[in-house]
Amino acid sequence: DAAVKNEVISRARELGAKFIRLQFTDILGVLKNMAITVEQLEKALDGELMFDGSSIHGFTRIEESDMYLRPDPKTFAVFPWRPRDGAVARLMCDIYNPDGTPYAGCPRNTLKRVLAEAAEMGFTMNVGPELEFFLFHVDAEGRPTLRTHDKAGYFDLSPVDLGENARRAMVLTLEEMGFEIEASHHEVAPGQHEIDFKYADALDCADKIVTFKFVVRTIAQRHGLHATFMPKPVFGINGSGMHTNQSLFRGNENAFYDPYAPDGLSDIARYYIGGLMKHARAIAAVTNPTVNSYKRLVPGYEAPVYIAWSGRNRSPLIRIPAKRGMSTRIELRNPDPSCNPYLALAVCLAAGLDGIKNRIEPPAPCDRNIYEMTAAEREELGIGSLPASLEEALRELERDEVIRKALGEDVYAKFVEAKQKEWDNYRIQVHPWEVEEYLSKF
Ligand code: GLN
Ligand code: MG
Ligand code: MG
Ligand code: MG
Repeated sequence: DAAVKNEVISRARELGAKFIRLQFTDILGVLKNMAITVEQLEKALDGELMFDGSSIHGFTRIEESDMYLRPDPKTFAVFPWRPRDGAVARLMCDIYNPDGTPYAGCPRNTLKRVLAEAAEMGFTMNVGPELEFFLFHVDAEGRPTLRTHDKAGYFDLSPVDLGENARRAMVLTLEEMGFEIEASHHEVAPGQHEIDFKYADALDCADKIVTFKFVVRTIAQRHGLHATFMPKPVFGINGSGMHTNQSLFRGNENAFYDPYAPDGLSDIARYYIGGLMKHARAIAAVTNPTVNSYKRLVPGYEAPVYIAWSGRNRSPLIRIPAKRGMSTRIELRNPDPSCNPYLALAVCLAAGLDGIKNRIEPPAPCDRNIYEMTAAEREELGIGSLPASLEEALRELERDEVIRKALGEDVYAKFVEAKQKEWDNYRIQVHPWEVEEYLSKF
């Protein structure tokens, strides 16, 4: 698109941008970038800039390490916290092979591929995430601690503390970068916050999640705080989730809405739920990809454990927010912010599409508190549970052809290899809990 390209170049010039960061994520969702000067921008937009992919996690073997970055001009944004003079801007990129084909190991390409499958069926996907995070103090050397002075809880209006100030600055910065912030509030745990931005099409949303985490960390640091998206940093209090509101659209119509259905949900919506529930155990490996993720998915902390859905209560995996019409959506509650959002949205969408293609009926909605049921009652109602560990989730992923196919063999193999290593590393450690529990007992 020559027009879009020229617009980016002239905007960069107008804003006096000197440096452009070409950004992408590795398989684990870690943001990477290569800085270029504005003089190189045109060449970059033409996809002519090369980098060595061999040292990026999950990218290529040494012998084929020359990769090309293809910036998406729609993602141009200036970093508001950097000097105005000689400003810094960024572009999100897709990774291409030297022969001009999309690199299969690129997470952004992976999401685009599944979105193209949805488009073939006539659908676009909209996503609205709710990211939670903790703000902790740093020690004298600037290293993160688990300390917070903040005693506030859910929606509390505490005397303005450091955390509140930082959150305010985060919201303002995100707005300057083109985010529409819908809500920002203190979460249940001390030091825990949530900032919600307006839903967007899935690719835009994944880009925004990556940007969001980067901005929140940066602004926290500038306030002398450490922001963490670790799913469960402290035992005994709530962890941090990334509730993922999702809907499919057909043109301008919300395909999840049916004004004639008693619950306002279309067949498409029901099958999408059926697909998500069928693949939930495998999806978890991607949406809850760390050892620590599974410390969050336990009873008692508002995080889901059981595979059920409900219009009303918040204990199940999937909740249907009350809004109908254009806002009709389902809220998937297990993802956490340690996931790679491109891969997470790709597997959710693939599961939903599988549900639609195969008309997978979900079980009846469950409006009771599942945590109060006995195992026998759950079994009778056919309510399964999410995996209890990363290892269990990886085993499920291995068995799930649909989710594997969504990732593609390349990403799948590299993801599982990295995660298996992570699990093995954890498994052989002796943890403080064990020493506490056994050292004097035996
Ligand atoms: N922090 C909770 C979780 O781990 C969610 C709390 C909420 O937003 N209701 O998912
Ligand atoms: Mg919320
Ligand atoms: Mg919340
Ligand atoms: Mg929510």
